[in-house]
Amino acid sequence: MERYESLGLVGEGSYGTVLKCRHRESGRLVAIKKFMDSDDDKTVKKIALREIKLLRQLRHDNLVNLLEVWKRRRRWYLVFEFVERTLLDDLEKNPNGLDLNTSRQYLYQILRAVAFCHQQNIIHRDIKPENILISQGDLIKLCDFGFARTMTMPTDGGVYTDYVATRWYRAPELLVGDTKYGKPVDVWAVGCLLLEMLTGQPLFPGDSDLDQIFHIVRCFGKQISLVKISKISTLSTLNVIVLNNTVIPWCFHSQNCLQMDPESRAHCSELLDHPLFTQDSFNIR
Ligand code: ADP
Ligand code: MG
Repeated sequence: MERYESLGLVGEGSYGTVLKCRHRESGRLVAIKKFMDSDDDKTVKKIALREIKLLRQLRHDNLVNLLEVWKRRRRWYLVFEFVERTLLDDLEKNPNGLDLNTSRQYLYQILRAVAFCHQQNIIHRDIKPENILISQGDLIKLCDFGFARTMTMPTDGGVYTDYVATRWYRAPELLVGDTKYGKPVDVWAVGCLLLEMLTGQPLFPGDSDLDQIFHIVRCFGKQISLVKISKISTLSTLNVIVLNNTVIPWCFHSQNCLQMDPESRAHCSELLDHPLFTQDSFNIR
């Protein structure tokens, strides 16, 4: 730690703190995630070791880059490249939502990050605005792999019991206590995120687990008008819906990400090939 100069706190979670620091020798800015004493608390130890293991395995342009790890006085320190802001900051600055093109750019990169994790059989399990970092050039870096885990094979009969991630982005199967959930929980969270980016408001802001279920059921009970809008040139060939005066690519809303049945939800790799990204060669640019 002596090699770094602390520039202040940037995040505080249940398992430790994140400090903005400067490497004294090179001047490089980093974020240092300092876990709580991990010998006393088994959960902290488990989360730290899990995050280290997965981050070492996962290298991708749209995932936060782990630079260095050490343990000192029973605490783990994880050093990351420093990233300027989070999606939460952008949402707070834009209470009416982000514009369609920005949302599309972010969504595409989030999907790339999640698709990459899924390819490696890893589910993130805590996709939400605070865990999406955005660098100066609007490059998305998914972070916080403390809850992420490798999927067990169905033949192992593996069940997951330690799910504690943020309620608003939780898929229905998690709310009813399904212990055999999988990659579709991340797709649900991405669906919630897309609508939040477009409207500026969290889609299902439940204040208890039961209220969370009510929010979801209420939304699906609503009739949403399906229209085709030709004004928006980049989306001219797409079906879109208008929800609270916001135009939403229909495909992402009800047919794909936000299906109640996890089996019916699209895979991230399929979503990346959607006309929303391919029709104007956006995905190639
Ligand atoms: P926690 O498990 O406590 O949520 P995170 O890894 O999500 O830990 O980090 C907490 C917060 O710290 C993030 O929401 C973000 O605001 C900030 N943060 C994390 N990593 C970085 C980074 N590499 N650069 C800048 N800020 C970061
Ligand atoms: Mg976090």
